Amino acid sequence: MIKTESIQRNIDIDAIRQDFPILKRKVKGFPLVYLDNAATTQKPASVIQALTEYYSGFNANIHRGIHTLAEEATAAFEATRDAVQHFMNAEAREEIIFTRGTTEGINLVAYAWGRQNIDVGDEIIISTMEHHSNIVPWQHLCEEKGAILKVIPINDKGELLMEEYEKLLSGKTRLVSVVYVSNSMGTVNPVKRIIDKAHQAGAIVMLDGAQAAAHLDIDVQELDCDFFAFSGHKIYGPTGVGVLYGKKQLLESMPIFQGGGEMIKDVSFEKTIYNDLPYKFEAGTPNIADTIALKAALEFIDNIGKENIRRHEDKLVTYATGELEKIPGLRIIGTATDKISVVSFVVDGIHPQDIGILLDSRGIAVRTGHHCTQPLMDWFCIPGTSRASFAVYNTMDEIDELVLGLHKVIKMLA
Ligand code: PLP
Repeated sequence: MIKTESIQRNIDIDAIRQDFPILKRKVKGFPLVYLDNAATTQKPASVIQALTEYYSGFNANIHRGIHTLAEEATAAFEATRDAVQHFMNAEAREEIIFTRGTTEGINLVAYAWGRQNIDVGDEIIISTMEHHSNIVPWQHLCEEKGAILKVIPINDKGELLMEEYEKLLSGKTRLVSVVYVSNSMGTVNPVKRIIDKAHQAGAIVMLDGAQAAAHLDIDVQELDCDFFAFSGHKIYGPTGVGVLYGKKQLLESMPIFQGGGEMIKDVSFEKTIYNDLPYKFEAGTPNIADTIALKAALEFIDNIGKENIRRHEDKLVTYATGELEKIPGLRIIGTATDKISVVSFVVDGIHPQDIGILLDSRGIAVRTGHHCTQPLMDWFCIPGTSRASFAVYNTMDEIDELVLGLHKVIKMLA
């Protein structure tokens, strides 16, 4: 409480927008209205500058070199690991594994932990609202091992049915892997309760944190999750870098994911001795530049404060919801009591794709389609939605532009 009060302040959105060069551009002659932040956020100048500084000042491969550039690059790369440890409140820096993104983090766990720990008849629980990245790796594992994939149902607001979840848990459950915040609806799932119940049943929990990391305070120790994955590009950082957090003893007990340089201590033709954590899971030359620049993204978030970001985005969601609901024939998909940063909708008689194309002709970027959550779209019996998703630099005026644009689209097509 004290922490929250002390950091709450009004943020200057105009000043924040100045930090994002891309927000100055025009699209189709209109000022860009970028409302596709759940797909990827734009990057502040500090992140772009960190990339340039690395390539123009100390580009070198890391860990192995003894020359100055290699030492500087290694220090900057490892400084990001410390920053991520702090960002997630992980107990140890060895628990932070750099990946390409959320997808690779989940695949790493499915491959390394899954192939060691899942057997015939074991059960893995996911939910109806999962992104394909948190469905396909487990489905593939289940097919390979003869295990069973169980799915937590939802209600028509797009909230998990927690009683049904508890009924799915049994002595056969080995893993529960759920999305923290739904990318299609913005639902914030009660992950603490999910984790506690899973642990009581003897299962471990993986969180898909792709949509949570930019908006919610992440404290993996308080959550007590076993694995947590997120992507740098959804939190104002570069593409091609992400993080897998894993509890140390789990990561230590797991076999390797990929073999190659960096993840070894000693190799002979008879035997390889693997490296210690976290390097055991970081085979080959990593994405050095983008990992270094990820630290600038974390600093950008830290400087504003998650609490302030959340407060601003909540206002945007409330305002957008109210304005969109006034449009005849428009229905919002995902009306959970606890939701953030996303407003998804369908309009009677108009395909989401057409809405996206026509909004783009006015410089407004929204995402349309199934958002890599086809089973969720099937559940709602719709082909897809149009989705406006918000970041800290979005404004009420941009929502007005969206609403105006939609009125024009409907006039043209309905
Ligand atoms: N999970 C969720 C909830 C997502 O929204 C996304 C991306 O949209 C992913 C996983 C996959 O993230 P990435 O493509 O960065 O690996």
